[in-house]
Amino acid sequence: MRIGVVGCAGRMGQMLIRQIAATEGCTVAGGTDRPGAPAVGRDIGAVAGLDPIGITVIDDPVALFVDVDAVIDFTTPEATERHAALAAQARVAHIIGTTGLSPAQIDGLKRAAQHTAIVFAPNMSLGVNLLMVLVEQVAKSLGPDFDIEILEMHHRHKVDAPSGTALGLGKAAAAGRGVDLDAVSDRVRDGHTGARKPGDIGFAVLRGGDVVGDHMVVFAGEGERIELSHRAGSRQIFAKGAVRAAQWAHTQPPGLYSMRDVLGLG
Ligand code: NAD
Repeated sequence: MRIGVVGCAGRMGQMLIRQIAATEGCTVAGGTDRPGAPAVGRDIGAVAGLDPIGITVIDDPVALFVDVDAVIDFTTPEATERHAALAAQARVAHIIGTTGLSPAQIDGLKRAAQHTAIVFAPNMSLGVNLLMVLVEQVAKSLGPDFDIEILEMHHRHKVDAPSGTALGLGKAAAAGRGVDLDAVSDRVRDGHTGARKPGDIGFAVLRGGDVVGDHMVVFAGEGERIELSHRAGSRQIFAKGAVRAAQWAHTQPPGLYSMRDVLGLG
């Protein structure tokens, strides 16, 4: 299977190139980065810290999408929206890890998914997707007597907050309670906030160092507290999940899928 990587010089992009090269049955078919990026024109293997593989990083995604079976995309919301339209035109599976997309940009993905298989997941790791299933179940079982708080910590370079994963966990908790997250989420607390509103789902965000990604969901009741957490030790878990998603999506009909679909978690 021929897999392309857009944003291949990024932290995740380099990891993805190495993961594809190490996966049996998959080959690195090409890669792009933004116009003017230092990686453009260099050998993609060398950019990822491997031996050269004879493929040059380009800045034109159109040329990439016409010549691959799937494209993996950990870039920016604007770039991802454009890439999804190209994936739809080329009928190529599109695996999206980019976070921070606006509702309008997500609508763009839904339109593209009418023509090709798109996997869109704020977190591609097996552990976090399992955590989402558990959070939904626990929220459903405990009911409104337990307050739900979601805490996340990431490295100092992360540009969006709360993380896409934290919001995904919030959605899972809200789904367990049968409510809409937008109606109950409390994302910023500062100054005289007043008492906690019953039913709210609160978010807390920490940034620092090189933390790959920590998430904790706290269910706080009277006299007891349940904490479900996941700590990512390496970005490789996301790259592994993304390559697995590409292999899966390649044989699926058009549609917008999640990692739960890929992993068969229901
Ligand atoms: P990064 O900044 O290191 O890499 C992004 C890359 O995309 C850069 O090389 C940049 O030049 C490139 N890029 C920007 N615009 C482009 C364009 N128009 N065309 C091609 N390339 C372009 O960031 P990162 O840490 O690799 O994270 C990227 C995204 O992935 C973020 O949104 C992050 O939150 C998300 N992420 C998701 C998961 C997951 O499991 N879903 C895991 C880690 C990171």
